[in-house]
Amino acid sequence: MSAQPPRIVIVGAGPAGIRSTQTLVAAGLRPTVIDENARWGGQIYRQPAAGAGFARTKAALYGFEAKKADAVHEAMARILAQVDYRPDTLAWSCEPGRLDILREGREASVPWSHLIIASGATDRIVPLPGWTLPGVYTLGGAQVALKAQGCAIGRRTVLAGTGPLLYLVAYQYAKAGAQVAAVLDTSPFARQAAAAPKLLNQPGTFAKGVYYLAWLRTHGVRIEHGVSLAGIEGAQAVQGVRWHTGNGAEQALACDAVGLGYGLRPETQLADLAGCRFAFDALNRCWLPERDAAGRSSVEGVYLAGDGAGIAGADAAELAGRRAALAVLEDLGVASSSHDDHAAHLEHALDAATIDQRLACIARFRAGIEQAFAPPPAHCAAHWPDELTVCRCEEVSAGTLRSCIRSGLATEVNRLKALTRIGMGRCQGRMCGESAMALLSAETGKPLHEVGRLRSQAPIKPIPISPMLFDDDVQVAEEEAHDE
Ligand SMILES: Cc1cc2nc3c(=O)[nH]c(=O)nc-3n(C[C@H](O)[C@H](O)[C@H](O)COP(=O)(O)OP(=O)(O)OC[C@H]3O[C@@H](n4cnc5c(N)ncnc54)[C@H](O)[C@@H]3O)c2cc1C
Repeated sequence: MSAQPPRIVIVGAGPAGIRSTQTLVAAGLRPTVIDENARWGGQIYRQPAAGAGFARTKAALYGFEAKKADAVHEAMARILAQVDYRPDTLAWSCEPGRLDILREGREASVPWSHLIIASGATDRIVPLPGWTLPGVYTLGGAQVALKAQGCAIGRRTVLAGTGPLLYLVAYQYAKAGAQVAAVLDTSPFARQAAAAPKLLNQPGTFAKGVYYLAWLRTHGVRIEHGVSLAGIEGAQAVQGVRWHTGNGAEQALACDAVGLGYGLRPETQLADLAGCRFAFDALNRCWLPERDAAGRSSVEGVYLAGDGAGIAGADAAELAGRRAALAVLEDLGVASSSHDDHAAHLEHALDAATIDQRLACIARFRAGIEQAFAPPPAHCAAHWPDELTVCRCEEVSAGTLRSCIRSGLATEVNRLKALTRIGMGRCQGRMCGESAMALLSAETGKPLHEVGRLRSQAPIKPIPISPMLFDDDVQVAEEEAHDE
C-alpha cells in the first residue's frame, strides 16, 4: 500500500506565502494556497482588483518597492498552474488536520498534513476619544484605499499614531496628490535618533525612512513628534483632531479624515486554533505562537512564517516563507531544489543557513524599529476616560471594564471578556484585545504578560451563518475531491 501523498496547505499569498509556495513547487510538490484577497501579493504588494477601473503603474503603487513587488507577483504568476490557488477564500477555523474555509458564500473543509500559516498582520489600535467616528481609518486601511481603490480616505487627512507606516502612508498620500494636513507622531524624535545604530542594520530601509521624512518636510507637510493625542472631534463625522505637544501645549487642527495606527500586530488566531503553544514576546508586546528558527510550531505539521508569526517586515517574510517550506521538505524527506529557469528566483533559492543569518540581521533592525516607534505603554490606559469606547463591536466602554476589574471579578482577560463581552464581536478581539489587556494591566498593576492571553475562537472573522448550517454536502464533496 502506498503512503498518502502530503497535503500541504498555505494560508496567505503575501510575500511569505508566495515564497513558501515557490519553494515547494520547485521541489515538485503541488500545495494548496488559501488567500482572502482577490489577487496575490498580500498587504505590502497588494494588487488592485482586476478591472478596478483605475490604472496606476507599479512605480506609483509601490514606490521604491516596485521591483520587489514585481518579483513577488511574477514568482506566483509563473507557478499558478502548479498550485491549487484559491483566492477570495477565508480560512475561518482550523483544527488538527483540517482547515475550514469560506468561498463565494460556501463553506468547505480542506484537509492538511502540513500547514504553513502566513497570515500577516493588522494595524495596532489604541483607542482615544472620537476614534469610532466615521472618517477614522487605520493607517493600513488608509493605504489599502489608495492601493486597491485609487482613492484617499478624505479631502484633508491627518495621519496619527506611530510607526514606519505613519510616514510611508503620508508620503504615498502626498505623492498621489492627496492633502495631508499633518503627521502626528506620538513617539519623540529623540527616541528615533537614539535607535539609529540598530536601524543601520538595514541601511537601505533606514535610508528610505529618512527620505520619506525629508520629502514630507520639503513639501511642507506639518510633522509633530512626541505628541499626546487628546481626541478626534466631530458630531456625525470627523471634523478635527486635538493633541498636546511635548511641552504640554494644546493644539487643534481641522480635517475630515484620520488615519490612525501604532505599528502592527500579528494575526495569530489560526495558529491558536491549530493548538500551537504561545509565549509572551516582549519585543512585539503580545503573545506569539512559539516556533523554531525554521518556523516549526509546537504542533507537528504546523509551520509559521512572515508577520503572522512576529512582525519583521516584507523582506523577512519572503525569507521566512522559504525557510518554512524548506522545513516542510526536510520533514517530508524531499530534496529541495535551488534550480529555477528564472534569474529572479535565484535570490530566493538561498540555503537555510544564509536565510538564518539574514533573518538575524533583520531582527536587530526590528529591535530598532520597536525602540524608535514604541506604542504608548500599557499604564497609559489608566488615563482613558470612563466613557471611552474600547470595544466598538460590542460597545464596551473603559468605565464598564474598570468597574468589572475594580469589583475584583476579573483579573484575567478571558474572564473580563466573559463578563463584559469585550472581544466577542465581529473583530473577535483583533482590534480591542490588546486594549483590554492594557487596561487590566493598568488597573491591577500586573505586567502585561500576567493578565492572560485572549484565546481565539472560530470563526476568526465574520462569516454568514447559513452556509455553516446547511452546506454539509459541500464539505463532504471537497474532502472527497482531495482524496482522489
Ligand atoms: C495594512 C498593512 C499595510 C502595510 N503596508 C506596508 C507598506 O506599504 N510597506 C511595508 O514595507 N510594509 C507594509 N506593511 C507590512 C508588510 O505588509 C508586511 O511586513 C508583509 O506584507 C508581511 O508579509 P506576509 O506574507 O507575512 O503577510 P501579508 O503580506 O500580510 O499577507 C498575508 C496574506 O494572508 C491573507 N490572510 C490572512 N488571514 C487569512 C485567513 N484567515 N484566510 C485567508 N487568507 C488570510 C491575507 O489576505 C494576506 O493576503 C503593511 C502591513 C499592513 C497590515
